[in-house]
Amino acid sequence: MRALVVICDGMSDRPVPELANKTPLEIAHTPNMDWLAKHGICGQMDAIEPGVPPGSDTAHLALLGYNPYEVYTGRGPFEAAGAGIELEAGDVAFRANFATVDNSGVVVDRRAGRIQDTAPLEKALQQIKLKGVRMIFRRTVGHRGVLVLKGSGLSHEVSDSDPHAEGKRPLEIVPALREQETALPGYPVIAGGMRKYVLRRNRAAKTAKLLNEFSKKAHEILKKHELNMERERKGLPPANYILLRGAGVVPHLVPLEKRLGLKGACVAAAALVKGVCRLAGLTVVDVAGATGNIHTDLNAKAKASLKLLEDHDFVLLHIKGLDEAGHDGNARAKVEFIERIDQILAQFLDSVDYIVVTADHSTPVSVRNHSADPVPVVIYGPGVRRDGVERFGEREVAGGGLGRILGRHLLPILADLMNKSHKFGA
Ligand SMILES: [Zn+2]
Repeated sequence: MRALVVICDGMSDRPVPELANKTPLEIAHTPNMDWLAKHGICGQMDAIEPGVPPGSDTAHLALLGYNPYEVYTGRGPFEAAGAGIELEAGDVAFRANFATVDNSGVVVDRRAGRIQDTAPLEKALQQIKLKGVRMIFRRTVGHRGVLVLKGSGLSHEVSDSDPHAEGKRPLEIVPALREQETALPGYPVIAGGMRKYVLRRNRAAKTAKLLNEFSKKAHEILKKHELNMERERKGLPPANYILLRGAGVVPHLVPLEKRLGLKGACVAAAALVKGVCRLAGLTVVDVAGATGNIHTDLNAKAKASLKLLEDHDFVLLHIKGLDEAGHDGNARAKVEFIERIDQILAQFLDSVDYIVVTADHSTPVSVRNHSADPVPVVIYGPGVRRDGVERFGEREVAGGGLGRILGRHLLPILADLMNKSHKFGA
């Protein structure tokens, strides 16, 4: 049994006045999605829970069956995993920006003139040694990068150094204990609260100190670096500071195959989604021409999915472009791109047993951001209880047989349809 799970990032929407109060999905010509809806079982899905607008990272954790409230502390670890860094539970990871500070230490460009080639700077930063921990710095796309600290007694409960605005100094990183600490394996729950609080505070203080030391050393190395001297000679802003944000601790995720008996693979362009899938134990491949926007090569992604389905139980095919169009408030672009996605589905009808089409969250063009509106979902394949839904759209699916499910229910439902599930009880 083989299953294809298509996640159309940010596909669903609210009624749009310029589309005669229909949604982009409702107005788009989608013969394949409609066929799946007609022959499958449909419903609505709240990726996390009703009323909570999901991020792409938390939504994908949920769609892979994990409870994001138990495993998610910040975006850093998923970016780092997406960048291909080998991570272990307990590592602490951050998102990083190459930035420009002036002689008085004020941030004048948070993106260092959108610098592209940071490879020599990455190499220079690898020389930094921090006492008692291992540090990995990896550049990603453009001015971005990730920082990972490996060692014992580290904490994700620290503040950002990124002031999130220009004209300000980088902030000193300080302990920032959160109201609710995500429960982690290996962190004893200490009755009485106070001892645990002191432990957390000490770990946060130690981590903050190491990060401030990293920031200082990085600045010393970068400001003297040949590449930055050259940039200054050319009148370009030097990439002389690393701003840190999005601290998170790498969670212990029980691999999907162990939990659900499904050997999975992921086809995605977005590093964040790749990172979530990698940490969940999925095979993650890079596809030439996949770009994470509406210019992506959908046929190449479909072809890669078909190839992976030869030796995997399921493939998560993530398509990003609609989210971008939603953030841009561009309803027409959403309609057109939904129609293009629909076209690639036909080739799977004969080659896989189950097809799921859904979204990770809504990105309404009127909101230009993620919203908590539930997303439509269809499951097509042998044994599904076909319902009365005739077309795939936000409102049509509301009368479907799946009712309204949570994101983390989706894969267990699919695994059960594929007869991979195990009985609970005798
Ligand atoms: Zn988005």
